[in-house]
Amino acid sequence: MRHVVKSGLACGLRWSGTSLLRRRLNGRSGTPWIVGYHRVVEDYARSARRSIPAMLVSRAMLRRHLDWIGRRFDVVPLDEIVTRRGRGGRFRRPSAAITFDDGFRDVYELAFPLLKAKGMPAAIFVVTSLVGTSGVPLFERLYLALLRARNTSQSLSTRLGSIVSALGLEVEGLADAAPAAGDTLRLTRRILETLRRDDLALLVEALEKEVGVDEEALRERRPLDWDMLKEMRRSGVTIGSHTRRHVVLTLESEKRVQEETVGSRRDLEERLGAAVHHFAYPNGWFDDATVAAVQAAGYSFAYTSCRHRDPAHPHLTLPRTLLWEKSSLGMFGTFSPAVMGCQADGTFDRSGLCPLHRRN
Ligand SMILES: [Zn+2]
Ligand SMILES: [Zn+2]
Repeated sequence: MRHVVKSGLACGLRWSGTSLLRRRLNGRSGTPWIVGYHRVVEDYARSARRSIPAMLVSRAMLRRHLDWIGRRFDVVPLDEIVTRRGRGGRFRRPSAAITFDDGFRDVYELAFPLLKAKGMPAAIFVVTSLVGTSGVPLFERLYLALLRARNTSQSLSTRLGSIVSALGLEVEGLADAAPAAGDTLRLTRRILETLRRDDLALLVEALEKEVGVDEEALRERRPLDWDMLKEMRRSGVTIGSHTRRHVVLTLESEKRVQEETVGSRRDLEERLGAAVHHFAYPNGWFDDATVAAVQAAGYSFAYTSCRHRDPAHPHLTLPRTLLWEKSSLGMFGTFSPAVMGCQADGTFDRSGLCPLHRRN
């Protein structure tokens, strides 16, 4: 956080002066700026008490982001983002696209009216097995269960350690997880980076059995349904795939990767009656094999959350900037156009590298 504030200050200095601002954004004209959000909530502080903070943006903050973006960029549908590339002359404004991952109902309830009012196209990447159900992605259930486990008397690491070993699973570094506030997020990440989807499901079910579930928190995370998706599509929202069950493709078998990429595309095309060209990698993770699978499944464009590209498949590794409530706050803790400018010109990208990237 301190790093961001410091960079924010440095950015503020660099961004003072409109001509400089315009020049830097125009420097992007060959590369559209694609932003990504997850959940949209009324009250950030209230929701953040039991949510991964970076999953959330309040409606009020989203409105500020969209206003800022709309004044500086042509907000275009994903289908246009690549065709516009290279055509962008010196006088054309740079282009941007707005995306939402996971398919939460609050995107329909809170973001969609805002987008419609502004006439801004957007895209949503959905987890097809959850659409129209009351199901919640496993990573959200894991985080909620770990929060509940942390609040009980027995230490989180002991508790989790015994559940994990009873299931015959292995998660490196579990033992050194102290029951401190920040650890729930770190633990969630470590588990998500390690376990395949089926093992993750076993762990989450065992944890929930032991600590119980927070029904209200699960209700808040309801997915949207097919009618909502159809309505959004009619109003200019592109619907893309985010796999069938939100699996991290780089951890899964070839067969599973194929099933998730081909299957989710088929689910969407059957239910929406329209071709689906766009895919977003869960967790933003990809490697050579998953990029090849996404191509074989028939997608033309796929989105990550990192600068890391596959030079052989640039359209299947399009980077995005993931934004949330606090990603554009300045030194006074309020929305800062200067910090937003730094998000747009890629100043912060280095701090958001994917784990594959960090390993290399
Ligand atoms: Zn996701
Ligand atoms: Zn990367």
